[in-house]
Amino acid sequence: MRKGQQREMARWRWLLADQLGPHFLDDDAQRVLLVESRTLFAARPVHRQKAHLILSALRHRAAELGDRARLVRADTFRTALTDLGEPAEVVHPSSRAALAFARTVDGLAVLPPRGFVTDRADFAAWADTRRGRLRMADFYRYARDRHDVLRDLPAPAGRSRRRPPTDVPPPPPIVEDDIDAAVRRDLDRWQAEGIRFVGRDAPRRYPATHAEAQARLAHFLDHRLSAYADSEGVLSDADGLLAHSVLSSSFNLGLLDPEPAIRAAERAGRAGTAPAAAVHRFVRGLFGWREFLWQLYWYFDPRFRGADWLAATRPLPEWFDRLDADAVEARCLADVLAGVRDTGWAHQTARLTVLANYGLQRGWRAAELADWFRRSFVDGTDWVMNATVIGMSQYADLARIDTRPWAFDGGHLDRIGDHCGGCRYEPKQVLGDDACPYTGGFEAFLHRNRERLAGDPRLAADLAARTDPQRRDAVLAQEEKRADEAP
Ligand SMILES: Cc1cc2nc3c(=O)[nH]c(=O)nc-3n(C[C@H](O)[C@H](O)[C@H](O)COP(=O)(O)OP(=O)(O)OC[C@H]3O[C@@H](n4cnc5c(N)ncnc54)[C@H](O)[C@@H]3O)c2cc1C
Ligand code: SF4
Repeated sequence: MRKGQQREMARWRWLLADQLGPHFLDDDAQRVLLVESRTLFAARPVHRQKAHLILSALRHRAAELGDRARLVRADTFRTALTDLGEPAEVVHPSSRAALAFARTVDGLAVLPPRGFVTDRADFAAWADTRRGRLRMADFYRYARDRHDVLRDLPAPAGRSRRRPPTDVPPPPPIVEDDIDAAVRRDLDRWQAEGIRFVGRDAPRRYPATHAEAQARLAHFLDHRLSAYADSEGVLSDADGLLAHSVLSSSFNLGLLDPEPAIRAAERAGRAGTAPAAAVHRFVRGLFGWREFLWQLYWYFDPRFRGADWLAATRPLPEWFDRLDADAVEARCLADVLAGVRDTGWAHQTARLTVLANYGLQRGWRAAELADWFRRSFVDGTDWVMNATVIGMSQYADLARIDTRPWAFDGGHLDRIGDHCGGCRYEPKQVLGDDACPYTGGFEAFLHRNRERLAGDPRLAADLAARTDPQRRDAVLAQEEKRADEAP
């Protein structure tokens, strides 16, 4: 072994709280620094269950690594690294802020990113050829080819049915241990001392170790993946999980490496234990969307975060900010918001059509909404927010990423879900006491943004059907009046 290599091996590996799986280490001897900082939670409030998950995962990792690991409780990362007094290295952090910090620490080497399949330079080379038109579907096609993903499993044509799957076995429960009990005691104490969290505490539902996450993934592939395609684009009053994997926090904490998960799903498809449609949908999310968003975060100028093409200027109302689902009568929104409050998670369709759509219709500030998603969800992370919330869901980037604003009225929500039957509002009604907030909100959104949206062919029919000035004034006045109230 060369001298230089020995020196590299002697460095401590500082593992961030989203780098906790085995693929963030090179060998079984490496010394590991883990840092727990209460100050970070005080500075940026997050969901109580997210705080629990992060602390539990850090402490479980320290326990797994035993004598090789040093778990430091410090006010700041800088203090912890200075006190270490030896050279250290860190895998490329997942946020611009953390990367900028790492580059200011003397003697801290920054290694290339891990936990993603695609490569930054390769993405940039691809994106540079797109002349500003960046579509996930184009990237996904390119990346599948490049990484030989799903090439021998043809995708079936056509969409899946719009009916939620039934009888899907739930993910196996997590069994809490002494580490979780200690985390809960600490968080209770911190809260009593004034640190603010959002959402409610509950027994831990999400994996905090690689082993727990692997077990969840195996269960998903064996028992839930087959119903996955039917879960896409639907909402269910009775079942908030459907056949989703609920593994996003495991991927984002770095407990699971996506590439083996993608290959395992491929194998399930080839072996016929899961239908090709389900495998394609799952891989499209994990390999297509997840990689695309990660690469866009680094590809775009950081100022993307401030994009505001729709001039959305309203602050988030307090009831939404506090996840006050009990204040909401609109059944779909109350149900999804209660899920976020109680579990820190909702599936893609609920996030897009119920939560983000509500903000888009009312002109909430996109960056504030992005921060709300980051703090309220156990998987909430800055690199997803830019393209997903600011770009796709709030259309603040003028279609740089997506092709149309994801605005939906109550009629659409009624078609994809089963909440409307038991709701006090009428999904098709635009005006009056029973007007569905999503239907009135959709129309007000079109009126407010008519000039900006005029060139969008996919909204042309919606805009053309709503030209009566008297009705426009009535809708705008109604929606202005109820803009900040819980619906
Ligand atoms: C407004 C909004 C905010 C979102 N915020 C986040 C976030 O902070 N963190 C986050 O990880 N995802 C976010 N997503 C994407 C997606 O909703 C979640 O990844 C997914 O719902 C997590 O549930 P799951 O693990 O059951 O996913 P599944 O449906 O089982 O998908 C499997 C995995 O694929 C990946 N994936 C699937 N779809 C997407 C997608 N559209 N974008 C990125 N990854 C995807 C995830 O890692 C996920 O765990 C957001 C989506 C929207 C519309
Ligand atoms: S009527 Fe409107 S508010 Fe009520 S559940 Fe349906 S879409 Fe939601």
